[in-house]
Amino acid sequence: MGLRKILTDKDPALHKVCRPVEKFDQRLHKLLDDMRDTLLDSGGVGLAAPQIGILRRVVVVDVGDEIVELVNPTMLETDGEQVGPEGCLSVPGKYGLVKRPYYAKVRAQDRDGNWFEAEGEELIGRCFCHELDHLDGIIYTEVMERWLTEDELQYDED
Ligand code: ZN
Repeated sequence: MGLRKILTDKDPALHKVCRPVEKFDQRLHKLLDDMRDTLLDSGGVGLAAPQIGILRRVVVVDVGDEIVELVNPTMLETDGEQVGPEGCLSVPGKYGLVKRPYYAKVRAQDRDGNWFEAEGEELIGRCFCHELDHLDGIIYTEVMERWLTEDELQYDED
């Protein structure tokens, strides 16, 4: 297990534009392994490299039955709209109301540099948008409509 410390949004690393990955080597594989471990340990849905202080365009997303590794991802297509609660491992204990596309399709490279496409709806579509934003130094609190109150969150869990 290679658990990395998750930085909060007060850290400058969370507000910088990340550089593309150029070398698909053992170092990248170790980073991805550690990000997978850290995501599983955190109970979150997605994790971007800048959240652990690495300013590279790397994201992992838990799509339910597996963890998808996105290296140098770009948004290919979005469709529809959803407005709902969103949180972030770097903004612990808080949630905001964020408008996102309902569907998102991304193009990315795997850990060996092969290009592929991944798509998702609802939570996964939301997560792709949220994580790709991290690579450009954008936190959801900068694009949200408003904070959610504790009452609203408890209502959501019923
Ligand atoms: Zn986040």
